[in-house]
Amino acid sequence: MTTVAIIVAAGRGSRAGAGLPKQWRPLAGQPVIAHTLAAFAAFRRILVIHPEDHHLAQTYASLAGVEIVHGGETRAQSVRNALEALAGQGVERVLIHDGARPLVSAAVIERVISALNIHAGAAPALAVTDALWRGEHSVQGTADRTGLWRAQTPQGFRYEAILAAHQAHSGGAADDVEVARDAGLSVAIVTGDEDNLKLTFAPDFARAEALIKRRDMDIRMGNGYDVHAFTEGDHLWLCGVRLPHGRGLLGHSDADVGMHALTDAIYGALAEGDIGRHFPPSDPQWKGAASHIFLHHAIELARSRGYQLSNCDVTLVCERPKIGPHALDMQAELARIMQVEMGRISVKATTSERLGFTGREEGIAALATAVLVKA
Ligand code: MG
Repeated sequence: MTTVAIIVAAGRGSRAGAGLPKQWRPLAGQPVIAHTLAAFAAFRRILVIHPEDHHLAQTYASLAGVEIVHGGETRAQSVRNALEALAGQGVERVLIHDGARPLVSAAVIERVISALNIHAGAAPALAVTDALWRGEHSVQGTADRTGLWRAQTPQGFRYEAILAAHQAHSGGAADDVEVARDAGLSVAIVTGDEDNLKLTFAPDFARAEALIKRRDMDIRMGNGYDVHAFTEGDHLWLCGVRLPHGRGLLGHSDADVGMHALTDAIYGALAEGDIGRHFPPSDPQWKGAASHIFLHHAIELARSRGYQLSNCDVTLVCERPKIGPHALDMQAELARIMQVEMGRISVKATTSERLGFTGREEGIAALATAVLVKA
């Protein structure tokens, strides 16, 4: 079925403060209306604007799937202009949405569309849960909230039915649901969303910005695995800590198997390959290199892309040396190298019950997981 979104953005609303009408004011780096249009990107969109805002709408007029229609004196007239512009095009359903509700979710839109399979109209709303009072500066009385709803948009309708309802209406309706009901259409209530707020007052913009920031959070996870064999020696490096031991670890660098696994986990989260890609073993300059160079490079690469280390977890697999007594030192050293709090770093160890190469004490294995967050 052909569904068209009508985004109503023709108001002059200035309750949100001086300057541009609220739908054209910036929100998280772009105009409110850009967010609203993006929420309906899956649909053909009619953007209804005030004729004086034509210069502001130019950017959107060139977007694929967006058409501009001029609004009228009232909101109802603006909607009617958009509905009439769609006449004779085989449109079956319309979603009429406030331009100043930029945070509408795909789930709310889907609920409205689904309900239109059964009903001529459907709209999202939230039940009133707060007590309702009457009064000016003091409470003069209370009102019963039973059966009361806070209406939201998009309000969805079968196209021919809502077009006829608007054309027959005498004016003065609060919204399209009232127009529909005055024409005898049944309008189903579907569950709205507390985040689907209508930007009205200045503080609403701050709340919307915070919600967008949370929504746009990018979380990435990577894992790393490394093995180094034992060789002759009297010490080894694990997670940046030098441990005296009857044997050393064989490797091109300092063979810090734990730090290598962690470094690979960070590269993995960034989809940036592994240590070998950034520090080729064929390059003699990395021979005997201290592994904190690798880890520092990986974490700085993450930071340069806007990511912070949320947490990491390193597991060393060996019979000996015993890791437990040194685990806190290792966490502290990794925290120092990466410049993050120690509470975000875990180092732990296990044996392999004397099984396999770690059990036979031929080498040490390490596994690591890292989570990066861009907020
Ligand atoms: Mg290695």
